[in-house]
Amino acid sequence: MNPFNVTILGCGSALPTERHYCSSQVVNHHGNLFMVDCGEGAHYQFQRNHLHESKLNHIFISHLHADHCLGLTGVLVAYALKRRTADLHVYAPAEFEGMLYRQFEFYASNATYRLVFHPIEGSQTTTLYEDGHLSVQAFPLEHKVPCYGFLFQADGHGYAYCSDTKRIAPPTEALYGVDLLYHEATYADSEANLAATMYHATARHAAQFAREIQAKKLIIGHPSSRYRDESILLKEAHEVFPNTILAEENLCVAVGG
Ligand SMILES: [Zn+2]
Ligand SMILES: [Zn+2]
Repeated sequence: MNPFNVTILGCGSALPTERHYCSSQVVNHHGNLFMVDCGEGAHYQFQRNHLHESKLNHIFISHLHADHCLGLTGVLVAYALKRRTADLHVYAPAEFEGMLYRQFEFYASNATYRLVFHPIEGSQTTTLYEDGHLSVQAFPLEHKVPCYGFLFQADGHGYAYCSDTKRIAPPTEALYGVDLLYHEATYADSEANLAATMYHATARHAAQFAREIQAKKLIIGHPSSRYRDESILLKEAHEVFPNTILAEENLCVAVGG
């Protein structure tokens, strides 16, 4: 497998179904792991995919809807039980800070590691992380609450994560030409009005966005629980952007190469 890849731990939307876990992914760059969103069940899925906890030091939360962050408390507790010593960095919209530290102090009061919170705020693209090999930028999406997408760049390749958002124009030039784009596709065309009022995207919107930024490959996820058969979403995306696949749990996709 390409040393720069993404494993999908969960790609469902807010309501539980038998098909999906809530949103969470792990970006792997030469063994260093970066979690993107941490919905319920993320830690179980992390274990199931045989990912190494000691290699996970940075967690990025797109927004504070429960299906994207409720799994984080469990991760904090598990690291306390396992006597983790390395700092754990959490990047999330600024209003998360108070609640995060309260949960940490309540549930992980015996922690042997430091939790370091990095607020994401504002309407500009900002660099959250850089280590000389890989950089992570946050860019604004449009959702009911403050929400950010993430762009991972390394080795001349890029991976962009856009969930959750309504149909938007590309918010930053840095997205152009990314090798891999994950974009939410909560609804089919028939629910386009609902998508607009709920600040979500349709599969077609995701595909249009992929085409606009000239992404090389698109993964669509976060389907509404109403779709027992998600092939309608894939079909509608394919009409606009043929190189599209449906997200599924435990799928590992290379970024470029
Ligand atoms: Zn969501
Ligand atoms: Zn949301």
